[in-house]
Amino acid sequence: MLDSLRSIVQELNGLDDLQSVLDTIARRVQATMGTEVCSVYLLDKHTDRFVFSATEGLNKSFVGKISMARDEGLVGQVAKREEPINLHDAESHPNFLFMPGIGEERYSSFLGVPIIHQRKVLGVLIVQQQTQRRFDEQEEAFLVTMSAQLSGVIAHAQATGSIGFVNGHSFDGSAKKGARFVGISGAPGIAIGQAVIISPPADLRSVPYRKCDDIDAELAFFYQCLEAVRNDIQELSVKLSSRLAREEQALFDVYLSMLADNALASEVDEHIRDGHWAQWALSKVILTHVRTFESMEDAYLQERATDVKDLGRRVLAYLQEAANTAPIKYPDKTILVGEELTASMLGEVPPDNLVGLISVRGSSNSHVAILARSMGIPTVMGAVDLPYIQIENSELILDGYNGYVFVNPAEELRSRFQAIYEEELELNKGLEALKDLPCETTDHHRMPLWVNTGLMADVARSLDRGAEGVGLYRTEVPFLLRDRFPSEEEQRVIYRQQLEAFSPRPVTMRTLDIGGDKSLPYFPITEDNPFLGWRGIRVTLDHPEIFLVQVRAMLKANVGLNNLRIMLPMISSVPELEEALELIYRAHDELIEELGVELQLPEIGVMVEVPAAVYQARELARRVSFLSVGSNDLTQYLLAVDRNNARVADIYDSFHPAVLQALKKVADDSHTEKRKVGICGELAGDPAAAILLTAMGYDVLSMSSTNLPKVKAVIRQMSLSEMVALLDQALLMESSQQVRELLQQALVDAGIERLLRPNLS
Ligand code: PEP
Ligand code: MG
Repeated sequence: MLDSLRSIVQELNGLDDLQSVLDTIARRVQATMGTEVCSVYLLDKHTDRFVFSATEGLNKSFVGKISMARDEGLVGQVAKREEPINLHDAESHPNFLFMPGIGEERYSSFLGVPIIHQRKVLGVLIVQQQTQRRFDEQEEAFLVTMSAQLSGVIAHAQATGSIGFVNGHSFDGSAKKGARFVGISGAPGIAIGQAVIISPPADLRSVPYRKCDDIDAELAFFYQCLEAVRNDIQELSVKLSSRLAREEQALFDVYLSMLADNALASEVDEHIRDGHWAQWALSKVILTHVRTFESMEDAYLQERATDVKDLGRRVLAYLQEAANTAPIKYPDKTILVGEELTASMLGEVPPDNLVGLISVRGSSNSHVAILARSMGIPTVMGAVDLPYIQIENSELILDGYNGYVFVNPAEELRSRFQAIYEEELELNKGLEALKDLPCETTDHHRMPLWVNTGLMADVARSLDRGAEGVGLYRTEVPFLLRDRFPSEEEQRVIYRQQLEAFSPRPVTMRTLDIGGDKSLPYFPITEDNPFLGWRGIRVTLDHPEIFLVQVRAMLKANVGLNNLRIMLPMISSVPELEEALELIYRAHDELIEELGVELQLPEIGVMVEVPAAVYQARELARRVSFLSVGSNDLTQYLLAVDRNNARVADIYDSFHPAVLQALKKVADDSHTEKRKVGICGELAGDPAAAILLTAMGYDVLSMSSTNLPKVKAVIRQMSLSEMVALLDQALLMESSQQVRELLQQALVDAGIERLLRPNLS
């Protein structure tokens, strides 16, 4: 059974359009279960009816032509109860609905299971038999398993179909206007622009769909790259000939024959002649063969999938290398789209052209989203159903507030979003007036607003918005943008720039925080559970040579400025902190000796990011000058929700009462130890959360500069006593939803709800 299931899913993954997916499901399930009938009913969201969408065994000419209301028939019952219905005599059931013509009357036994994706019923999968018998338990379990596996494939095919892309042909003429894809808000804001797809090199699955104008030139280019790969393989074969056994040597001949003009190449050739560019034609052919091999029963033949993939990658690498020699011309309003955008990809687009980002994978707390927020670039993350390789050059609207992407929007939608975009610009201009005003409540409680930085570009934006200091400088960002660890002197220069730019304001530099979803290309960390693994301080304590060099560079950069603070990430125990402190003191002593000057020891602080640190806040605080809560990780670890996983993004919520209790405890415990406490997670930049954090007594809020003006506007509009009253109520609440509603209402009452988000309804 498991093999059949795998092979069905594999076959489906290779299909481009919804109808082929449904037809294949009906055909394969009927054959696998050996039933007489298998049909699929899909819910049409517009009419709210279940449409007879595919069948094997009933009258196919009715497919797409008949439907029943949401609550009608046995189909309606299965959907309503969200569980299987298994009947030996369907016709005698009170909900049975006779549909003339489809030929159902002959079949007595009926087994229907709901197809559910992300808690929503998409349709119903049914098998039927003539003989009057109940389907047995195993059959029922198989169909339920099948349906659970298929729901994601169907949802994806529905989404893909919504932009009218069928069987590898562009949707240009037939595109349905304004297809909407749902992701997660990564960075707020509206962007209207043109899609540019960015793919990792030699990745067959992420080659964007493009047409080619000059077919002859494209063919010649393809054959030239093919020849280059053949030469490589021949050379490799000669080089290894003395070391390989005969049968291993024969593999090279197999490769070469696969690459012969009359084999894979001729199929690619055909696609190019149909007007597709070589990269897409190649990936289409290779992936089809890979799937065929993978679905074979024979282990030897299954293995051949790897060979085909390898050959495909080699040819693709040549095609891409040659194509990349011409510089990419980015449209004026580029929306960068990729399977999994990374920090370094952002750097490829000239900043003036980059208006938006869409990542199919990842979530709002992935580091690329955090960078985007600090750069003020509207971003949608986790748009898992977006058929991104097919939308190159399409016009997109990106709604970074709600996490929506509209492909090829209709004119009316476009002008509505254009109007919102302009309103937002107006609002932000209005907020510029606050730049030089203090951040204080109406009853004169001062709340210092600091910024989170990582790139040099953040500096000007931050100062422009009236930042009073840096609460988190993510030192890993310059590490991420290189191909090796930066030297001590290189680091000193980078850190000096930050310290000088903000001097005399304080700059809090966090020591290298890699691991989790931040892996350096030159220091890869591969783990099953990266967020629970070798991360942050754990890595640098294991590599004192990296840690010491970094601390030395920071201390040297601080000479004469004395505005440095050092902060340690991911601390989860006292001994860990003491070890890190020892290393910092050692670097400090050694430098004094080396340089022969008096060096000030900067303030040192601990990030509270894991639950253990919440419970040991006092013990940690006693040993350092300040604490700073990293609410992004703290939320992830308290709620056991991966901050990077789109599937659970809706339960990642920093307004969760447990998170609020933890935040309050850390603030209280720090103050008991007479230490300052700040917060530098994304929560600090949320205008509604800023109310609660101010009331809790946080001494500093550190956020991306984009959010600073809105947070200041909210704080200047309320009194501390009002905020404390709201906090008292919030701490009694039992769900994040209630807390949000409370704060929303408070902002409405104060007439400033517009600061939360524009009215996009
Ligand atoms: C945090 O975890 O809240 C934090 C500020 O650190 P990062 O987002 O870089 O992990
Ligand atoms: Mg963190």
